Amino acid sequence: MSEDTTNLNFDPDQLRARYQAERLKRLREDGNDQYLEVAGRYANFAKDRYEALPDREPLDIEIDALVIGGGFGGLLAGAELRKVGLSDIRIIEKGGRLGGTWYWNQYPGAQCDIESYIYMPLLEELGVMPSERYARAPEILEHVQRIADHYDLSDSAILGTEVTEMHWDDAIRRWRVSTTRNDEILARFVVAAPGPLHRPKLPGVKGIDEFEGRSFHTSRWDYDFTGGGPTGGLDKLGDVRVAVIGTGATGVQVIPHVAHGAQHLYVFQRTPSSIDKRGNAPTDTAWADSLQPGWQKERIRNFNALVSGVPLEVDLVNDGWTTLIGKMMDIFRNGDAEMTGRPVGEILELANFEKMEEIRARVDQTVKDPAVAEALKPYYQMFCKRPCFHDEYLLAYNQDNVTLVDTNGQGIERITPRGVVANGIEYEVDCIIYASGFEVGTAFERRAGMKVYGKDGRTLSEKWNVNGMRTLHGMLSNGYPNYFMLSQSQGAWTANYTQLLEEAAHHMGVIVAHMEANGFETIEPTQESEEAWANEIVASTENAVGGVGGSDCTPGYYNNEGRALEGPAWSSNYAKGSIAFFQVAKAWRSSGDFHGVRFTSLEEA
Ligand code: NAP
Repeated sequence: MSEDTTNLNFDPDQLRARYQAERLKRLREDGNDQYLEVAGRYANFAKDRYEALPDREPLDIEIDALVIGGGFGGLLAGAELRKVGLSDIRIIEKGGRLGGTWYWNQYPGAQCDIESYIYMPLLEELGVMPSERYARAPEILEHVQRIADHYDLSDSAILGTEVTEMHWDDAIRRWRVSTTRNDEILARFVVAAPGPLHRPKLPGVKGIDEFEGRSFHTSRWDYDFTGGGPTGGLDKLGDVRVAVIGTGATGVQVIPHVAHGAQHLYVFQRTPSSIDKRGNAPTDTAWADSLQPGWQKERIRNFNALVSGVPLEVDLVNDGWTTLIGKMMDIFRNGDAEMTGRPVGEILELANFEKMEEIRARVDQTVKDPAVAEALKPYYQMFCKRPCFHDEYLLAYNQDNVTLVDTNGQGIERITPRGVVANGIEYEVDCIIYASGFEVGTAFERRAGMKVYGKDGRTLSEKWNVNGMRTLHGMLSNGYPNYFMLSQSQGAWTANYTQLLEEAAHHMGVIVAHMEANGFETIEPTQESEEAWANEIVASTENAVGGVGGSDCTPGYYNNEGRALEGPAWSSNYAKGSIAFFQVAKAWRSSGDFHGVRFTSLEEA
């Protein structure tokens, strides 16, 4: 593309070429298959290290609703069902306490990346204000418990237990649910809220189980070994050499704490993250006191509009997530005719280049060793990978006890009994911490860890394996009555994940309220309506703007590790964006006729 670049302090063509070269370096034939599943000989990496629940007698119960997953999704669903008036609601959760992602991710430094005033749900309803702009994990976990207590979901929760399979029994119109603790549960409704990122994965290299030191995944932190807790203070690492593998959003939060505690830290990097400033601060009480009712929903919507590319004049959150759009607005406002006359997609790309130049300059300003600084610079568009925000991460590389092992996009080669091999060199360590992320893009039932058998005895995966995923609005599937899924596939995707959970839980609540008001016993979408929705999903992806998060990006879980999907993108989210999706869902449920679903009442056969 030839363009007038006189007003820019970078060369767009050069950056495009560099981004492409970095991407190509990382592309792998095996895509998602490169990772090891945490099962079988690696199952120990998934063991709950925080709460060891004792054996108990199996349950044999019949209830109104079973909610699978005790994170924010499950709690918001439970809250909606309570509002509808269902009394016997049980949450089932594999962790030893409620909390979902905030239970598992109690690693040192865990903190929300999205402003807590919009990330932590139900703040106004529960009369709570977070203590900081970006709350830390213990405070978020406390809020989870607060929601559970408020909606009376805590005492009845079935903890340390996983659903193994469930069968729809059409004769009694109930789900028969089995668990890892031999429970037999009959439930009228089942809501699946397992969360998108909860199954840890490991780099697909040899030798992981041959390592003779201590090793664990960040979502199962071994505090017995490291000392300290979620806010840091790893006081048992003073004579320990540690390897951290992975520099995604988790690695970035963990590394400063390990750097502080360890005798020596080796960070193994495949792709650098973009690190913008954090700028955390205690909550301004005067500001909090000035808020008017409805402020949280308004703030959530304002943030989502901006990160969805809607150019608004007011930016309520005004942080690293929204400044990219701010930059685009500046180009519109202050650019000359040559600049502002360009198509929106091009202006967005230029704003993105500018933002990433800023991110790269921040590395140079912070990291003393120029070679280390160069290796820490991300060369891809912002939002190709999850952006990170931290004020101590880059500084850690100035410490004498920290070594960055950059693998030039290739990753580690193998684990030996003594350490980690990368770039042909063995680094001897006493402890390996896998900050290697979570499964995305594997089969739904493998990630959810359970099999869901519908009316015709087929599992959901078997059904979807024939022609691809089929649901109405990502939530209901023909042949699986009274089964609600809170998921982004065929639904919405939002950077502020709890927003989509709240919207989905509310959608489900409205449907159940309608059933209760009209004496309906079951609900199921028709085949025609889910076929139409699946086609709408695929059509939406065909018209989507490429680039950010797409196939031009450096590989990662945002873009199926850089591999094009085979066939139509059935399981994609609604690519016209979350705002459009929320409007579609709202119009559907508000119309009152619930088009495309079939309800049955008790009298019907
Ligand atoms: P992730 O983003 O998937 O990062 C995994 C890291 O492991 C990446 O740096 C990856 O490199 C690296 N890796 C994988 N295989 C490797 C190999 N063979 N050799 C060397 N490195 C390897 O996982 P995550 O950091 O746990 O974050 C997952 C998601 O959780 C985030 O995207 C975010 O949505 C959420 N999260 C949120 C917060 C928050 O809100 N505060 C904090 C943490 C996580 P590549 O980049 O090259 O693949």
